[in-house]
Amino acid sequence: MNNLIIVESPTKARTLSQFLGKDYRITSTMGHIRDLPERKFGIKTDKDFEPDYVLIPGKKEIIDTLKKEAKKAKKIYLATDPDREGEAIAHHVFVICSNEKLKSKNAKFSRIVFHEITKSAIEKALAAPGEINMDLVNAQQARRILDRIVGYKLSPLLWFKIRRGLSAGRVQSVVVRLIVDREREIEKFVPKEYWEIYADLRKHLGGKLPDAPIFRTKLVQKNGKKIEIKNKQEADELASELNESGYEVGNIEKKEVHRWPVPPFTTSTMQQQAANRLGWPAKRTMRIAQDLYEKGLITYHRTDSVSLAKEAIFAARNFIQKTYGKNFLPEAPRFFKTKSKVAQEAHEAIRPTSLVEISNFQFPISNEEKRLYDLIWKRFVACQMKEAIYDETKLSVLATAKINHFLLEALGRIIKFAGWLAAYGEIKNEKFKMKNEEIQLPDLEQGDDLDLVKLENLQKFTQPPPRYNEASLIKALEEYGIGRPSTYAPIISTIQGRQYVEKLEGKFQPTSLGFATNDFLVEYFPDIVDFAFTAHMEDDLDEIANGKKEWVPVIREFYIPFNTKLTSVSKIAERVSVEAEVIDEKCPECDAPLVIRIGRFGKFISCSKFPECKFKKPYLRDAGFTCQKCGAPMVVKKTKKGKTFFGCSKWPACNFASWRKPKEVAGEARPS
Ligand SMILES: [Zn+2]
Ligand SMILES: [Zn+2]
Repeated sequence: MNNLIIVESPTKARTLSQFLGKDYRITSTMGHIRDLPERKFGIKTDKDFEPDYVLIPGKKEIIDTLKKEAKKAKKIYLATDPDREGEAIAHHVFVICSNEKLKSKNAKFSRIVFHEITKSAIEKALAAPGEINMDLVNAQQARRILDRIVGYKLSPLLWFKIRRGLSAGRVQSVVVRLIVDREREIEKFVPKEYWEIYADLRKHLGGKLPDAPIFRTKLVQKNGKKIEIKNKQEADELASELNESGYEVGNIEKKEVHRWPVPPFTTSTMQQQAANRLGWPAKRTMRIAQDLYEKGLITYHRTDSVSLAKEAIFAARNFIQKTYGKNFLPEAPRFFKTKSKVAQEAHEAIRPTSLVEISNFQFPISNEEKRLYDLIWKRFVACQMKEAIYDETKLSVLATAKINHFLLEALGRIIKFAGWLAAYGEIKNEKFKMKNEEIQLPDLEQGDDLDLVKLENLQKFTQPPPRYNEASLIKALEEYGIGRPSTYAPIISTIQGRQYVEKLEGKFQPTSLGFATNDFLVEYFPDIVDFAFTAHMEDDLDEIANGKKEWVPVIREFYIPFNTKLTSVSKIAERVSVEAEVIDEKCPECDAPLVIRIGRFGKFISCSKFPECKFKKPYLRDAGFTCQKCGAPMVVKKTKKGKTFFGCSKWPACNFASWRKPKEVAGEARPS
């Protein structure tokens, strides 16, 4: 028992123990063991921002064991996760278990890094032990300190000016702003009416033959000019002309369209796809990905790299040839380019560690693990397959009336060769299927006469920009450069947990608290809620990780102006009030209107005369359908774990509850 391997999770320890013999003892820190103090600022701003780390409460037993094991061991391998957070844990373990006075004894510590928990990866890592990378540790520490400064210094000001108990966060505030800005755009938006005219046509066969297939065309031009139909009157006039027109097939344009496979998953694209195709929030996706990684089934799941190990590519190519055949295999392997600026941390994309069928796993694996694994697996295999080929047809139809002539168009698309879509088209227990993009058009030739079967005028309105959903928000964070693989999921759950935004029908909307806090910050701390400023700060942290910047100056550059601002704002800013939403219901105790307020645990209903009148009751959102048992309205509720369900509003008199809306009201559509 000479060698000790220290990891941060018991599952990871268990997986590792399968590959390593009796010479290695493996122990787990169960996450971080040292951090800034919980109830104190913990940063010496006058001493180069020296952090005042404390052992995490409740970790004493674990730390004692670690120390004892470390003392006994001849060699100690710090094998925490391959990123800044993992490097920081390794560093803290070293500081706690090493002996400052006996430098020679510290030589027994080394750091090993691997991006997948497999036998070959571990053996490779053990053969090349290194040292703790202090640049990564400093980058993690700098983020922690920056976030602490903002949270700790700004929150009390919000308590004072807005409401007790609020908390501000560095990146979180910008993300709330993104959602508030979008909501205001939507509020401001004035929909404009327009109309579309569709003609259902079929080939003229002269009556005796069976009817030819019907296809739909859209009116696009009048007398050679693009058409815009503003109102019903215009649409009706056009329709009456089209009713009198003769129709014939015009130009037929055919072309082959190639659709290239998408790159393998990064954290961001995995979260987006899991949201779109499985309906999962980012937090759930990351929890399941963590399990898969620790069980040795996928590569490390916090990454912004799309590059792949050569061996993995060859394994995929082998698999494709065997399973799908030579036709599906491109001549050369596909390599994808990573946009990430953080070269040192450039790992690999997220991919399965081997192409074993799910049923052959040596570990028990849960149903949700299977679903995410399947998605990762197929995305990876698909990225090494041939492109899909579509045949696209643009069919023009000429309509000639007495005075005017019109152009109508139909687009046809059929898959000629599925290519990578053969693997990625459908996944296990998919909640939202990928759109079937095939549109069939009948065989026609230029000059063919057509019969009009039906005209349809459709009233439409221009649409405001959509609210963010889980996937589009992650995409926006990545595009603005204000998120990193390790931060997307925590940010999104924090802004909901703190009641700044809520997710309704899968879309994010600010609460009144979110509006008020955001407006306060925009007015007094424009930097904190500035997209470019926050993106720049993330870049600085990357530079620290790359060893190109020192961490102390980065923090000082932020802290000094921030602190000055803090003092002045606390003097000049006036108290803002959070608007309470008045509802159409009177207080049973004093007859004043009731309002919706936001407390620490979400919305509740209270009397508008508060604090004079103390009446309050829980806020229950109408679920949009009635109870199967008693006919009362159903309301949206949450379990202790935060999972949404529907319960009868007459509870406890009626105990009916369900996880899902009945099919006829759900009408679920694939989020765009
Ligand atoms: Zn009242
Ligand atoms: Zn009921």
